[in-house]
Amino acid sequence: MKIAIGGIFTESNQFSLNPITVNEFKRGGIFRGSEFYEASVPSIRGCIEGLNEENAEIIPLLYASASPGGKISLDTFEELYSDLMARLRQNMNLEGLILNMHGAAVLENGSHLDSAMLERIREELCKIPIFITVDLHAYITENLVRSCDAILAWNTYPHRDMFDIGKKAAKLLSRTIRGEINPKMVFSGVNVITSAINASTDGPGPFAKLMAEQLKAEADQDDILSTSLFLCQPYLDQPNMMSGSLVISNNDLHKAQRLSYEFAEKYWNKRVEFLSETKSAIQVLDSLKSEEYDHHVLVEASDCCGGGAIGDSVHTIRQLMRLNSDQKSLSIVVDPKAINQLRDKNIGAIVKLKIGHQADTKWGNPIEDNFEIIDKSAGLFTYQGGIWGGETGDMGLSYLVKKSENYILINSKPTYEWAGEQYHAMNLDLNNYKYILVKNPMNYKNLKLTGRTKYHRIDESGPTPIDVEKLPFTKSKEFFPKNLEEKMMIRQYL
Ligand SMILES: [Zn+2]
Repeated sequence: MKIAIGGIFTESNQFSLNPITVNEFKRGGIFRGSEFYEASVPSIRGCIEGLNEENAEIIPLLYASASPGGKISLDTFEELYSDLMARLRQNMNLEGLILNMHGAAVLENGSHLDSAMLERIREELCKIPIFITVDLHAYITENLVRSCDAILAWNTYPHRDMFDIGKKAAKLLSRTIRGEINPKMVFSGVNVITSAINASTDGPGPFAKLMAEQLKAEADQDDILSTSLFLCQPYLDQPNMMSGSLVISNNDLHKAQRLSYEFAEKYWNKRVEFLSETKSAIQVLDSLKSEEYDHHVLVEASDCCGGGAIGDSVHTIRQLMRLNSDQKSLSIVVDPKAINQLRDKNIGAIVKLKIGHQADTKWGNPIEDNFEIIDKSAGLFTYQGGIWGGETGDMGLSYLVKKSENYILINSKPTYEWAGEQYHAMNLDLNNYKYILVKNPMNYKNLKLTGRTKYHRIDESGPTPIDVEKLPFTKSKEFFPKNLEEKMMIRQYL
């Protein structure tokens, strides 16, 4: 049983001017052929373990991943895709294919990368089963559902189960090839598009409840092979964007239709619970004065690199500097222009710097002030977990500067935040700071802080707002909460 594995994995934000080129994939990691066996990428390791357990012959093609950003250049996509397909074509007696994708990547010409790629592959490999794994924040399209036999999404957010889902896909595909099962897949999408701020799968939130209930339905019924629950990544501008439920049954299309519809309806009924009150940096910092905590974690979710932002907002940093507390603050910002001003300067030097909003000026204005250089680093670190767990992160040449008690880590390149790796790369102990700025709306839960800690959500002007109604969508408009009077609309793809 010869099964090929591969994938092109990244996530786009269509409101961010942060193009993804081949350099971002080189920075994120490209593995070809036997290099797969050296990869720490959890989804790839899961596939390999599952296929080994099923005694399959593994044909590793190409797996390329890049930190989220804007759209992917066409040249980059064609280069990676043709490399993957050239390797695939050398093995025309393949019996199956697994691709580890994200599901919310967009090409420079505005088309959905994942759908476009799977359509092309399906045309060429019309007879063999094709399975894909995706993030639960994927954008599911009719063409994507038609172009593959099974879509399996991760079930955790923060994302921790990429290995398990890779392995599950490998096992289900092997059983399909042996004729033991016959997967029938239905996606039921519902017109709810919100940010993911209340969509953790831990704790008591609406997404966690729906996920637990759906996974129980899967566990209780032998003929349900897999279920996935999607919160469509809201920073896309694509037609028919929907969240919803995808069910794969064993040879029972009606059952998959019924169960996925039932969960899409439940999703709609919980829609209001996905909304969150939003506060600006000024509102949050002005309300802190009377509170007694050891740490205030300031989550500026509207500038999240994990959602495709450049990471160059200084909205919260500006308010920390205005607050001028005698307690230390630690902040992060991506700004290659500021790094250029710092290059060649020595530690201890005082430098007049312009920081923030210099790559995409529409979200705010830079800070200009004199800062002291405290430290610098080449910017490499190892991810402690998550999608790139075990892999190297590269935030580029980075400087730690300070003004009074405000310490600012300036990176050259955007990187996905998981557990404070960017700060740890500079040997900083977060427990020494009263105020800590992070930008991922969910993964700050992985920070290990001692003492009483309060978390604050900040929504400012930026490409990954909590309040998605702020965004200028042009392709999908009829969804809750863009229009609070919106009626439920469920669409099924099979
Ligand atoms: Zn995600």
